Amino acid sequence: MMQLAVLSIHSSPLGRAGGKDTGGMSTYLRGLSLALGQRGHRVDLFTRRVDPGAETVCRLGPNVRLICPDDGLGELDKNLLYPHCPEVAESIVRFSKSDRCQYDYIFSHYWLSGVAGRILKERWHIPHLIMFHTLGRAKNETSPGENESALRLQTEADLARNCDLLVASAGGEKERMVEYFDLRPEKVALIPCGIDRNLFYPYDRQGRLAAKKQTGLLGDGKTILAVGRIEAVKGFYLLLDAAALLPAQDNFAVVIAGGEGRNKALNAALKEKARQPGLDGKVRFAGIIEHERLPLYYNAADAVAITSHYESFGLAALEALACGTPVVASPVGVLPELLGHNSAFGALVEGRDPARWAAAMRRVYRAGKPITGAALEAGLAPYSWPEAAKGLESALQAL
Ligand code: UDP
Repeated sequence: MMQLAVLSIHSSPLGRAGGKDTGGMSTYLRGLSLALGQRGHRVDLFTRRVDPGAETVCRLGPNVRLICPDDGLGELDKNLLYPHCPEVAESIVRFSKSDRCQYDYIFSHYWLSGVAGRILKERWHIPHLIMFHTLGRAKNETSPGENESALRLQTEADLARNCDLLVASAGGEKERMVEYFDLRPEKVALIPCGIDRNLFYPYDRQGRLAAKKQTGLLGDGKTILAVGRIEAVKGFYLLLDAAALLPAQDNFAVVIAGGEGRNKALNAALKEKARQPGLDGKVRFAGIIEHERLPLYYNAADAVAITSHYESFGLAALEALACGTPVVASPVGVLPELLGHNSAFGALVEGRDPARWAAAMRRVYRAGKPITGAALEAGLAPYSWPEAAKGLESALQAL
């Protein structure tokens, strides 16, 4: 049995996914922690207390607690958090003393937690694992419009060398870390994300039609869905440029599920783009959709588009496939592993030529068949939270 202090200081794992600082990382933290708890490990998930009235400790499931120690800083934008990481770490040390809890490992998520985790490693003399979720350098190099700070890039490089183990969720991300930080491959454990199959599963024909009605994606037209926060890295421009080339007789609609990001100019530019000829009235910005309601959207859609310049994993693709909906995607994150071997799962599109993307989207939504059966099961088998928990156990045993 292991005792883990898991740090997610800039964003609560219970935060609303699809908002500006909450996305795949929150899904990951909940899924993995609950699976570790089920396997008998004790997990304390630490996040900052932003609501003064919040409870310090709340139970998320067997052996899993969410802990919000008071660091006295109140609500703080993540861009202002770096100089305060020592105070955040101190609040965690205070809690552990008052609660008399001890840990075997620190597992930090995102670079800011890594900074706090590094301080805890010095205090507690226990191994420190880090999962960056995204790499600042990769965002800057791949995505026009992203501008992660030199501080973040340098800190990630320092942390990568200082920590005991890095965790990547897709093969490409592991390779990137080894190259960027000049690491031995053994320093990076590859632990794929999982998926909650009780939530994300394919509906039958009736259910898919009902899902179309409930989500307002009515009619016999074709719906292309994209899921994610409106950020430059998601490349939604390409989705709209490609959709503008689709023939009107397809009676298509584009739905973007996810909240607005920090970049207000980008939010406005995308909305403007949605009014271009060929698209007017066909694009819906659905805003944040509650995670529990997203299966309805995936089931209602005829194709899910992942136009991202960069993903460290790309949970939305896995969620779509688990609902039986094919995916059209750039070769980012786990997508080459997921789609590369099975054309029934959709299409990988190299490059960012809107005409190629339009042709691929059309091919996929016109095929019109939800993916089911043995192929789907085999494709999804490597991606489960219990498997991810086992992967982490083995990686830690090898430390
Ligand atoms: N998500 C959600 N509601 C939304 C938009 C996104 O619940 O309106 C969730 C989605 O289900 C997925 C996560 O946010 O679990 C996005 O993860 P992904 O890896 O695709 O992108 P990231 O946010 O990590 O960049």
